[in-house]
Amino acid sequence: MPSVVLVEDDVRIRDALARALASRGHTVRAEPTALAGLEAITSSAPDLVVLDLGLPDVDGRELLRMIRAVSAVPIIVATAVDDETEIVRVLDAGADDYVVKPFSAEQLEARMRALLRRVDSEQAAGPLEVGGLKIDGRSREATLDGVPLDLTRKEFDLLALLADRAGTVVTKQELLADVWRLPYGGSDKTVDVHLSWLRRKLGESAAAPRYLHTVRGVGVKLVPPS
Ligand code: CA
Repeated sequence: MPSVVLVEDDVRIRDALARALASRGHTVRAEPTALAGLEAITSSAPDLVVLDLGLPDVDGRELLRMIRAVSAVPIIVATAVDDETEIVRVLDAGADDYVVKPFSAEQLEARMRALLRRVDSEQAAGPLEVGGLKIDGRSREATLDGVPLDLTRKEFDLLALLADRAGTVVTKQELLADVWRLPYGGSDKTVDVHLSWLRRKLGESAAAPRYLHTVRGVGVKLVPPS
């Protein structure tokens, strides 16, 4: 069973979740502050992190950046705000998935299983190559013509998903569901903004596309440049 570091300052929520996850066979290390959580993550190298964003010592998004500077561990954040803008911000800061408070241990475990499955299948799939693009799910590194791309976690996920389905049109709704975990009514603008960032990093634009082609009214597809 996967090992989990749980960071949550509310003692009742922390104890209840730690008990529920431990009773299902997880090894759980539960910490009440951001800095104790960061120390637990670096010293115990867990399979997954569950992170409350409202901690007393460090702002949640800042903590995500601190963790990402030292670890690629899958992270699920617990947020009190059910708002797309905030969720996208948190995912951009380095989280993989989220649950909105209040949530049940069952709901959290379902998200944990889904995330670990996704990570496993990305790692098992081996590197993807489309034209001069190389995307390695294991190391989470992407290169274009041999030059490393400096991508955020969600930009990497977006590029990896499009590369995995190279040559086919992927709809914005599919991208919202798969990359941002927003299956219900996420906004096209979230996808558009990230596509424009990704284009800039690939050295292209919507007006002069090479890899990323928008199919108006349908979605976007990644193809090797002609
Ligand atoms: Ca809290």
